[in-house]
Amino acid sequence: MTDKKVVVIGAGLAGSEAAWQIAKMGVAVDLYEMKPKKHTPAHHSNNFAELVCSNSLRSNQLNNAVGLLKEELSKMGSLIMEAAYANEVPAGSALAVNREDFSSYVTEKIKSNPLITVHEEEVTSIDKDVITVVATGPLTSESMAKAVSEITGGGELHFFDAAAPIVDFSTVDMTKAFYASRYGKGDPEDYLNCPMTKEEYDAFYKALVTAETAPLKQFDSELQEDLTVFEGCMPVEVMASRGYDTLRFGPMKPVGLPVPKTGEDAFATVQLRRENREGTMYNIVGFQTHLTFGEQKRVFRMIPGLENAEFFRYGVMHRNTYINSPGKLTRTYAMREYPNLFFAGQMTGVEGYVESTSSGFVAGINAARLALLKESIVFPRETEIGALAAYVSEGGVSSHFQPMNANFGIIAPFDKKIKGGKKCRNEAYAERSLEIISQSFLDFNNI
Ligand SMILES: Cc1cc2nc3c(=O)[nH]c(=O)nc-3n(C[C@H](O)[C@H](O)[C@H](O)COP(=O)(O)OP(=O)(O)OC[C@H]3O[C@@H](n4cnc5c(N)ncnc54)[C@H](O)[C@@H]3O)c2cc1C
Repeated sequence: MTDKKVVVIGAGLAGSEAAWQIAKMGVAVDLYEMKPKKHTPAHHSNNFAELVCSNSLRSNQLNNAVGLLKEELSKMGSLIMEAAYANEVPAGSALAVNREDFSSYVTEKIKSNPLITVHEEEVTSIDKDVITVVATGPLTSESMAKAVSEITGGGELHFFDAAAPIVDFSTVDMTKAFYASRYGKGDPEDYLNCPMTKEEYDAFYKALVTAETAPLKQFDSELQEDLTVFEGCMPVEVMASRGYDTLRFGPMKPVGLPVPKTGEDAFATVQLRRENREGTMYNIVGFQTHLTFGEQKRVFRMIPGLENAEFFRYGVMHRNTYINSPGKLTRTYAMREYPNLFFAGQMTGVEGYVESTSSGFVAGINAARLALLKESIVFPRETEIGALAAYVSEGGVSSHFQPMNANFGIIAPFDKKIKGGKKCRNEAYAERSLEIISQSFLDFNNI
């Protein structure tokens, strides 16, 4: 036990996970969250661990890297994973959640933990003498972004990201749209599909690439000159502008979704994924956008089946924030220069809900261990959680550091080629990793 406290700033996915792990190790936490007094442009609820865009935590399969990362976290007692499985909604081979119930679950757990004291206030500076986990996310408030930039040595901290619109199911024309998961995998009601003929696609494509986007100064005038669009969350209109067929090989891919009336794949198909258990809300998959709201209504209503669609939420474009972490952070997400300071979540350069959670997990247990004067824990590169931490702290081959999703390209390869193709190799990665986790990382209090 220790009388030292750890400060956690930001109760998003990473901060909530970090606070929970620290308390689990018997160390008291002061958790600062600026909601409900102040919200970022994408946060609307007052709960912790809010999912700002999709309600999907992506694949649940172990031969997929994010599926493996989820399993590693679950095995080690992640609060976010516990909340996700407790509030799961069907989504084929993906893990999707009811976002309100998921966030309420996390909030309730954190607020009722006697070792965690919640402070509802915006933090505007960082004290490098106090053990702290900074997890203020991709939309970190301006004053905090400035403090982070100063302490990490400046450099690029911002870029842009976009969110997809959500449609009211009761306004979808089901004589045109149909339920089906691609290739018949999973519950057909997880996805709605809106098939298009070539003529319909031509008209839609033309409207999309010529539609009016919201002026950037509406979001952040300072950043207009330095617009970088993150590839993983590229606005649909930007993707469309890359070529006539780009969408048909991306979010509007028709394969594996035969139209019930003809039994054949359409020329292009828009997919909508169920947002909640009741199936009253569906988000348009891959349609993150920064068209003006009026243009979204006009252009997306050209999609067959959505002619009279009402939107629960329009797509929006937001600022994103991350540190140029390689060389600055260690594999525990602590700063090399100031070992009391840990960073976690999207701002470290991991990308995605589960990835943000994983960095919160690693930073949390290591911040607690620092308070307890125990040696830090570095996860090996043979695990996905360790591979991500290694990528963030050391970077990839490019000199321009870019955020990273969980993937098998960053995990330590096998010495020998695994027979049976990619699927077998990925399964072997998963088996190896879970074995390591089971043998060495299940009880952090006794390591
Ligand atoms: C618009 C948008 C859409 C995204 N869509 C997806 C998606 O669909 N799927 C996906 O996997 N990932 C998505 N991401 C990326 C990322 O995974 C999520 O943003 C994720 O929530 C990041 O987790 P986090 O803990 O780092 O930050 P967050 O979950 O954003 O949490 C940060 C918390 O810190 C608080 N805060 C900020 N500044 C301060 C301050 N100064 N003091 C106190 N509190 C503060 C905020 O209110 C917030 O609660 C998206 C990102 C953005 C911006």
